[in-house]
Amino acid sequence: VRVDEIYESIQGEGPRVGMRTVFIRFAGCNLRCPGWPCDTQHAIDPKLYRHEWMDMSVDDIVEEVNRITNGDNRVNICLTGGEPFLQKHEDLDELTQYFNNRHYLTECFSNGTLIYPEWAYTRVCFIMDWKLPGSGEAAVGTKERVRNYFNLSYLDAVKFVIKDEADYFAAKDIYKEHMAMREMRPEIYYGVVWGALSNDKLTKWVMNDGLPWRLNVQMHNYIYNRDDRGI
Ligand code: SF4
Repeated sequence: VRVDEIYESIQGEGPRVGMRTVFIRFAGCNLRCPGWPCDTQHAIDPKLYRHEWMDMSVDDIVEEVNRITNGDNRVNICLTGGEPFLQKHEDLDELTQYFNNRHYLTECFSNGTLIYPEWAYTRVCFIMDWKLPGSGEAAVGTKERVRNYFNLSYLDAVKFVIKDEADYFAAKDIYKEHMAMREMRPEIYYGVVWGALSNDKLTKWVMNDGLPWRLNVQMHNYIYNRDDRGI
C-alpha cells in the first residue's frame, strides 16, 4: 500500500466532524482537479513528492495506528488521499477488516470515480466527493459515481465542493436527478472552494432554494494554519 502520511488530528468535516481522528492518507489519485488547486498536492503529485511516499504493509499501518491511538478504538479512523480505492483492494479489505473487528469507526473520503467493492459498504462510512464542473473533473467517472451513489446508505454522505454559481446549479441538477426522490438517502454536504466563494453567499442560495443540505466548513482550516501538513 502506498501511503503519503499517517497522523492524528481533529476531523474537520463530514459526519464525524470534531472527533479525534487518525488520518491514513494514501498516495496517488486518478484525478487532478485542474479547476482549483488540490489541497493535498503532496498526495497526488509523484514528480514532486514520490520520495516522501511510503510503501507500507497492512501490518505496518496497523502498527502505526496502534502506536498513535494506544489501541483506543474510540478514535475515528479516516481513509483518505489522494484516492484510497486506487490501492489494491485486497489490502484495503484486510485493513478495514482489522479495524472493523476491533470496533473502530472507519470512514473513507473518496472521489467516487472507481467502483467500490461490495465489502466496503458494510465496513466504512463513505463521504463521496461528487465532482462539479469547476473542478475540471466532472466528466470523469460519471457512470461509476452514480453506481457507487446508489449503493450508499443513509449512514454515508455525498459532498459538493462549490466554486461558483455554475457549480451550484450543477449540484442542484445532480440532486434533482439522482437524490431528491430517494428515501433514506445519504446526507448531502455542501461547502465552498476555499477563497473562490463565500459560505455566506452559498448558504443564502441553499436556504432560498429550501434544499435539505448540510454546511461543511472544513473546520480544520479555521483552527489550524491551512497550509500546514498534518492538520
Ligand atoms: S480528487 Fe481529491 S485528491 Fe484527487 S486531485 Fe481532486 S481534490 Fe485532489
